[in-house]
Amino acid sequence: MTVRVRIAPSPTGNFHIGTARTAVFNWLFARHHGGRFILRIEDTDEARSRPEYTQNILDGLTWLGLNWDEGPLFQSKRIDLYHKAIQTLLDKGLAYYCYTTEAELDQMRAAQKARKEAPRYDNRHRHLTPEQRKAFEAEGRKSVIRFKIDDNREIVWNDLVRGKLTWKGSDLGGDMVIARTSEDNSIGQPLYNLAVVVDDIDMKITHVIRGEDHIANTAKQILLYEALEATIPEFSHTPLILSKEGRKLSKREGVTSISDFQNMGFVPEAMANYMVLLGWSPPDSTQEIFTLDEAAKAFSFDRVNRAGAKFDWDKLDWLNSQYLHQIPPSQLVELLIPYWQEAGYEFDPVSDRPWLEQLAATIGPSLTRLPDAVDMTRTFFTKSFEFSQEAVDQLKKEGVAGVVQGVLNALDSTEQLNSEKAGQIIKQVTKEQNVKKGLVMRSLRAALTGDVHGPDLLESWFIIHQPGKDSDRLQEALTQAS
Ligand code: GLU
Repeated sequence: MTVRVRIAPSPTGNFHIGTARTAVFNWLFARHHGGRFILRIEDTDEARSRPEYTQNILDGLTWLGLNWDEGPLFQSKRIDLYHKAIQTLLDKGLAYYCYTTEAELDQMRAAQKARKEAPRYDNRHRHLTPEQRKAFEAEGRKSVIRFKIDDNREIVWNDLVRGKLTWKGSDLGGDMVIARTSEDNSIGQPLYNLAVVVDDIDMKITHVIRGEDHIANTAKQILLYEALEATIPEFSHTPLILSKEGRKLSKREGVTSISDFQNMGFVPEAMANYMVLLGWSPPDSTQEIFTLDEAAKAFSFDRVNRAGAKFDWDKLDWLNSQYLHQIPPSQLVELLIPYWQEAGYEFDPVSDRPWLEQLAATIGPSLTRLPDAVDMTRTFFTKSFEFSQEAVDQLKKEGVAGVVQGVLNALDSTEQLNSEKAGQIIKQVTKEQNVKKGLVMRSLRAALTGDVHGPDLLESWFIIHQPGKDSDRLQEALTQAS
């Protein structure tokens, strides 16, 4: 048997982290078994589905490296298939037209509430005669198509994450609506449970892997598989992603879509790695850094937790920094250039490339998220800058004017600065001015960067030297020092 799994997002919003994590688990399972990962866009809800959301989902999957083998298949293009299945259920007497009005449904629910019963459809139109149907239609009533659910049924399956699950037919809310109808009462828009089952049968899905909020749907869907005389796939319900406080991670909590994480400066490798660990623990529990391929080798559902997975920003930041620290400067600079451009920094991505790459190499080890680079590098881009109070204090110290002048003089007679020459200048000025090396280093940092903290001094000097800004800055520092 070839494993066939699918991710089936509804394009009614941007690609949600919960859906993305479900996609990750499906992908890992497919790759582990050499199976197929299928992408299906569930866009039957015309009012809420939007092409830009579909694009956001496709972009997010691609960005994360979750390549799919088949699709994207669009449910909106498969309506005939659903209609055929609904007709089969009608022909078999397993589904029927229901004409109960909204007002009647409201009354029914109010009466159930008064009796302290759970709201459900009371199956009142299950056995309408053709005459009764005609009469309702003559009244101009709208209909839906309902699938019969036997209250006495017990639905049992062996969930790959949660073990044996049992659901009572009587807890499924009565006969379920599987389709709306058109003006002329012919079969209209199919609803989620029906379309999913028809598709999963048609696409020969062997394992349905999705969030645990779908457990009740699974019970209903198993009844549909039986009614359509199809093989029932395996089911695997993965834990939900919770906020740090243990609540469901909702849209209200801010960042929830993959493109949001992308905009915040997380790299796809870190994001995918983090999602792998959201609910799954590797056999070697000390290993935290994985590529998707490595995780796929080790992946199995018996290591997926049943408890909700708490979202941990610190862990995600840590993973992101681990990846950022490993990216070679030639690639890192590509990721940073858009942020520098957006910050309005002036540079030429082509002619300034060598020192930009050096800058990326210098700050790379200090980055947690990509946008951190904006503040960290401001001093390297600005033409004029304010000296921080600490820098001014440093420049006003005794002997500093001489140090800065000494460096300026040495720079004048230096053809091409590199880190070796820079080291020599520092040594030479320390000796000439008869001061401590630390004073020279601190003063030089204050003069060149306007601050007393920052990345490696020699590297920073070299970077500032390349567009020729160091002499001007030393001159300016001299006016502060004296
Ligand atoms: N369209 C459904 C969702 O986005 C798919 C659920 C399923 O995997 O069956 O939740």
